[in-house]
Amino acid sequence: MSQSAAPSAKKIQAIRGMNDLLPAESPCWQFFEAKVRSLMARYGFAEIRTPIVEQTALFARSIGEVTDIVEKEMYTFDDRNGDSLTLRPEGTASCVRAAMQHGLLHNQTQRLWYQGPMFRHERPQKGRYRQFHQVGVETYGFDGPDIDAEVILLSARLWQELGLAEHVTLELNSLGSSEARAAYRDTLVAYFEQHAEVLDDDAKRRLTTNPLRILDSKNPAMAEVIAGAPQLIDHLDDASREHFARLQALLDAAGIHYVINPWLVRGLDYYSRTVFEWTTEALGSQGTVCAGGRYDGLVEQLGGKPTPAVGFAMGIERLILLLETLDLIPAEARFGAEVYLLPLDDSATPQALALAEQLRDALPELSLTLHCGGGSFKSRMKKADKSGAALALLLGEDECADQAATLKFLRDDREQQRLPQHELADALAALLGHARHTR
Ligand code: ATP
Ligand code: MG
Repeated sequence: MSQSAAPSAKKIQAIRGMNDLLPAESPCWQFFEAKVRSLMARYGFAEIRTPIVEQTALFARSIGEVTDIVEKEMYTFDDRNGDSLTLRPEGTASCVRAAMQHGLLHNQTQRLWYQGPMFRHERPQKGRYRQFHQVGVETYGFDGPDIDAEVILLSARLWQELGLAEHVTLELNSLGSSEARAAYRDTLVAYFEQHAEVLDDDAKRRLTTNPLRILDSKNPAMAEVIAGAPQLIDHLDDASREHFARLQALLDAAGIHYVINPWLVRGLDYYSRTVFEWTTEALGSQGTVCAGGRYDGLVEQLGGKPTPAVGFAMGIERLILLLETLDLIPAEARFGAEVYLLPLDDSATPQALALAEQLRDALPELSLTLHCGGGSFKSRMKKADKSGAALALLLGEDECADQAATLKFLRDDREQQRLPQHELADALAALLGHARHTR
């Protein structure tokens, strides 16, 4: 039997954990993205876009060598020059790098936001992917709790506007200064050493590398010993304690509900003082939809001048999943043209093309699909119906001769109307509630 042969017919698939966004889903993403974009503008945040690939050292030095991300989740490779590069696993490090590189932190404050894909080699499951998308904000140069409150209020407004406010909870903690954390670390290690028999392998390893992360463990066998551990919140330095109290007072005054979660330590090394997460019960174990905090030490750690900083990142897939689960995606976020314009035979095509352009000139918000591809009357009408449009405009031989069109209601039981073409823009504007272009 011949071994050579036919090229493999196996079709190439996308990489596991990296998703295509299909046409049926993209309107929902666009709806979400439009909300975010407008919200950021209303809060005075400017967009920043950074490359998807950075030098590996940037993430290793900022996120921390002994974190899940750097230890086991990064997509790292050598490029053709032998430089070690990494697909960004999060946005903060790149944002600090860009802000420093372009002098954005020099004697000025910044309120920035970004959105885009992030990459982590995790086990794919619902709400957890290898390419996922985040929206994030980062602020620089503000050391008081007012900015902590402001970014929390920004996120709270987004939940409000998406209808999610009742489905998410704000969890809050303070990690104190790095000195306070170092002292607490010793207390914590001493405590866990007394309970070494219940620690799993991960925890034993973290005891010497990153003991605070033991508090993050989901291992039920360790739940009791973790619950009895000394709490960082009782070991805060005075300045951090005051900062945290003032933040709580600001949130109280703004009517924002929160729960203090002393076990909230976050997976990244760069946080100090305020940390927070917005969580939901509706998504199973992937319940954190937004997470952030203060990271006053990071700019200096990356070679800049000491610069106070606060930010957060939200996972877009989880938020869209939540909106879908709770059936909160509004009809306007479903795809479909409003009007389907239909030449009834090929001789009407030139006039149909011209009419479509006139209507698009007159009604800038109108979404109109022009029938293309010919077909019998029946198949054309079927396409019009399948398009999901509410209205069809029919252009047959008679209509063309009279410079008219027949307006057909595809979703309502209403008599069709024949209108002169020059009256169509006004008629559609009235029917669809669009503004007329005036010039
Ligand atoms: P988790 O504890 O769920 O692993 P994390 O602490 O690693 O989250 P962050 O680095 O704080 O997550 O990222 C902020 C947000 O980005 C998360 O709250 C989540 O909504 C989203 N996110 C993080 N990792 C993923 C992923 N692999 N897939 C989808 N969304 C993610
Ligand atoms: Mg993670």
